[in-house]
Amino acid sequence: MTIEPVADRFCRYARVTTRSDEDSKTSPSTPGQWDLLRLLEEELRTLGLDEVALSEHGVLTATLPANIPTPAAAGVPTIGFLAHVDTYAGTPGEDVKPQRLVYRGGDVALPGDPDLVIRAAECPALAGYVGKEIITSDGTTLLGADDKAGVAEIMTALAILKAHPQRRHGRLRIGFTPDEEVGHGTDHFDVPAFGAAVAYTMDGSEPGEIEDETFCADTAVFTFTGHDHHPGYAKGILKNALLAMAELIGRLPRDAAPETTDGRESYLHAYTASGGVGEATLKVLVRSFTVDGLQALEQRLEAIRQAVELLHPGVRVAMRIDESYRNMKLKLDETPAAMAHALEAVRRAGLEPRTRPIRGGTDGARLTFAGLPTPNVFAGGLNFHSKSEWVAVEAMEQSVATILHLVDIWREAGERQAG
Ligand SMILES: [Zn+2]
Repeated sequence: MTIEPVADRFCRYARVTTRSDEDSKTSPSTPGQWDLLRLLEEELRTLGLDEVALSEHGVLTATLPANIPTPAAAGVPTIGFLAHVDTYAGTPGEDVKPQRLVYRGGDVALPGDPDLVIRAAECPALAGYVGKEIITSDGTTLLGADDKAGVAEIMTALAILKAHPQRRHGRLRIGFTPDEEVGHGTDHFDVPAFGAAVAYTMDGSEPGEIEDETFCADTAVFTFTGHDHHPGYAKGILKNALLAMAELIGRLPRDAAPETTDGRESYLHAYTASGGVGEATLKVLVRSFTVDGLQALEQRLEAIRQAVELLHPGVRVAMRIDESYRNMKLKLDETPAAMAHALEAVRRAGLEPRTRPIRGGTDGARLTFAGLPTPNVFAGGLNFHSKSEWVAVEAMEQSVATILHLVDIWREAGERQAG
């Protein structure tokens, strides 16, 4: 059995248009995602996986049964590998033309757009690939390594396991999901039916990276209730909700905004406002890596709210806090092997593991809180969501190796425990 190289497989998947659409009411949000899902469904069957199922909402799952004797298999948990088939909605992703080239150093020109180059200065990771093969788009679209690199890596690892039955492994579950980029990746994902003890989203960036932390996220919703009146006769009567809202926005800390923070720093972000003199609404994102940090920011907002009410007598300012999601590390720490084994797998793949907090939420975070601990592992791509997206072939190979090491490590640990 010849195994299709991961880069060839990736380029085939990249050519299928799967851009998602946040305004669509269907799942998947776009018909192109069905094309790739059906192709993958067919390929999983051809590879000989069991329980290949494509749900009505476009969630594709399959099983690679354990090939170790039952007593040993009993101690080896089912582990899952996940990737999303859609590409970022905000960047053209139709008719992607992957370009394979050996990187010779310096900037990388993209043939479809003479004005667009991948700048070495803005992409230090390029320096590690001189003399090696990388893949870009032609410059008119994104590439879709986010997350077809992850899809291709999982499929390649499965093909390798199938071709080498002497490689012993526990039961593996595979999940390919639609619409991650528009925030609906896990809407129709059935965690109990998936039936894995832990899972890994292969959806990270640089080789060696593993993400186990997300923000804790709330939304503060302010309602300003003023009093409208004919402006010609409004003296002493009219109370303008908009002025109170402007006051509140003006008092938000400039040094704790998305554009002035990074790494582990928290922020407050006024991101949408609407209304008029009589009533206005403002939404502020509250983000921190700890629940304490979140509460500190919310106390700060409450103090601002009170100050604004004092300055604008007659305008009522109400604040409501809506919980969005919590740092997945809080939950992941309950299953320490999930991360420990991922770190070990990266080391066995010859890389230095690096953990990095995600300044956002992920499908993995939602799944983790739904009972399936799911760290995010590198898939190799860089410059996600842009026309200058690229991936190194070696990085995809290292990701495949990491998947295979993860499978080994979970089996070894299970067998050790079973004695
Ligand atoms: Zn992704």
